[in-house]
Amino acid sequence: MKIKKGDMVLVISGKDRGRKGKVIKAFPKERKIVVEGINLRKKHVRARREGRKGEIIEFPAPLDVSNVKLICPKCGKATRVGYKKKTKGQKVKIRICKKCGKEIL
Ligand SMILES: [Zn+2]
Repeated sequence: MKIKKGDMVLVISGKDRGRKGKVIKAFPKERKIVVEGINLRKKHVRARREGRKGEIIEFPAPLDVSNVKLICPKCGKATRVGYKKKTKGQKVKIRICKKCGKEIL
């Protein structure tokens, strides 16, 4: 998957379109990610003990990775990701920014 945990992304579709956030979880198999502050859902938590109040908590729900674009840490633009092969002891695939061509770690 082209997006990894820790990446900054721009949301390009859905109700949070145009917003930016940091990827806090990635699920490569499902091709889904969780982005801080994006796609917030409300969950009602019931009081577990008597005398305590139930509460509503907000949490970011996973969204499809195709709904975001990576923000390049080098040039700051929302970009597509390319790959470059490099040999570092063994061959590795390195992500590169399609806009500025720099490597993205
Ligand atoms: Zn770039």
